[in-house]
Amino acid sequence: MPQLEAVIGLEVHAQMNTRSKMFCPCDNDAFGKAPNTTVCPVCMGHPGTLPAPNAEAIQKALVASLALNCTIQRENHFDRKHYFYPDLPAGFQISQYDFPLAKAGMVHFSVVDASGKAIGGERECRITRLHMENDAGKLTHHGNKTLCDFNRAGTPLMEIVTEPDLRSAQEAVAFAQELRRILIAVGASEADMFKGMMRFDASISLREKGTQKLNPRSEIKNLNSFKALEKALTYETKRLTKLWEESSGPLPNDITVGWMDEEEKTRLLRDKETAMDYRYFPEPDIPPLVFSEKEIAKTRSALPTLPQELRKQYAGLGLTDAQVLQLTDVPQLRALFDVVREKTGDSKRAVALVLTQLLGFLNAHGKALGDAPAPEALLELVTKIDEGTISANAGKDVLEKMVASGKNPSAIIEEEGMQQISDDTAIEELVAKAIEANPQAVESYTSGKGAALGAIVGWVMKETKGQADPKKVNDLLLKKLSQASSES
Ligand SMILES: [Zn+2]
Repeated sequence: MPQLEAVIGLEVHAQMNTRSKMFCPCDNDAFGKAPNTTVCPVCMGHPGTLPAPNAEAIQKALVASLALNCTIQRENHFDRKHYFYPDLPAGFQISQYDFPLAKAGMVHFSVVDASGKAIGGERECRITRLHMENDAGKLTHHGNKTLCDFNRAGTPLMEIVTEPDLRSAQEAVAFAQELRRILIAVGASEADMFKGMMRFDASISLREKGTQKLNPRSEIKNLNSFKALEKALTYETKRLTKLWEESSGPLPNDITVGWMDEEEKTRLLRDKETAMDYRYFPEPDIPPLVFSEKEIAKTRSALPTLPQELRKQYAGLGLTDAQVLQLTDVPQLRALFDVVREKTGDSKRAVALVLTQLLGFLNAHGKALGDAPAPEALLELVTKIDEGTISANAGKDVLEKMVASGKNPSAIIEEEGMQQISDDTAIEELVAKAIEANPQAVESYTSGKGAALGAIVGWVMKETKGQADPKKVNDLLLKKLSQASSES
């Protein structure tokens, strides 16, 4: 039995986060809306309507293409792709066939372990093409009835096709995750997997290691999560390996399979597939798109820092790999981290505040990241701690209350009377009281048991409900006790 390797390529559909749909002014955000309410005669495919391309969608697809290092085809056009399906009311999809927006890109990515550490070196996956098209509606099946919601019909999509450069299920997932990061970073898609904004078809074939031949492949349709992508490819790799062993070779012809999430196996959809004839022809109602070098250069120069570069920047701050990934993956966390780090110059403190305390409190209160305080509010909290208005310990309570109530730090400190006692006279009085109330601890301390000091400081902190400045208490207590011992 020769050693086999998997040859995997992906076809990714990502919805663009535009205000309106690809070819009509309908609202592109159908989330939570009643079925068939964000529709119009254009996206419902009524005869006699005319599509008008969405400039925002084209710009976003252009930005994404450049971020994927693709070559923009300065002249490209839309085509009609004909097929019959109940969620496709026009009987054709407006897509791009022989002249897509972009070709020949490249994505660098790493496979990481659970701690965020890269396994092996950096990998590369070539991008064959990126083109624009409109999404179809959504069918839901209830017993023997099927319902159709056209809200999604007309949503702008990017179809991104890779070369078969991926060698394992893990590599395919790592690539798809990096692709998602890039699309989010450039603002082309929210790529929210739960809302089906990013979907995959994966092609897999096997070959003998060391050969370059591409054997007939199995195409796995409709994978809607990274987990499904990984499980389906792992399953299909095993299945094809077993078939290879039984028949001493690869699949005789291309096949199409579906992934069944619940049973965790693939199911044959089409065997001996001949290429479907979609009768593509140039969309007669939309003129070709023409980009100037100047337009492309302008868009390229406005690209934001991409995830790979961002990770390099954050890796230089002395954080763990997992922390770097967390911050570079979630722009909202990054914004919070950045304001604290810029103010304090202390990455470790910023990490503790944002990734440990804040995330912990959000989790404990069942809140989403969207409920996190604004960067300004977090900055205010840090200032209150650094100015000595509240202790670092009280700062934790304030942060928790900020998460729970959504109020800003000053309001919470005011309402709860959490201001720190840092007035020298007040603390001196407290220390005097503490010495009086803890004769045993004082005696232990003066007889050389240094640890007893903590008990006396603790008494003051308890008396003041943590509002005394512990450093000042400690300093004044030491002063007082050394005075007392020199007097005796
Ligand atoms: Zn519409």
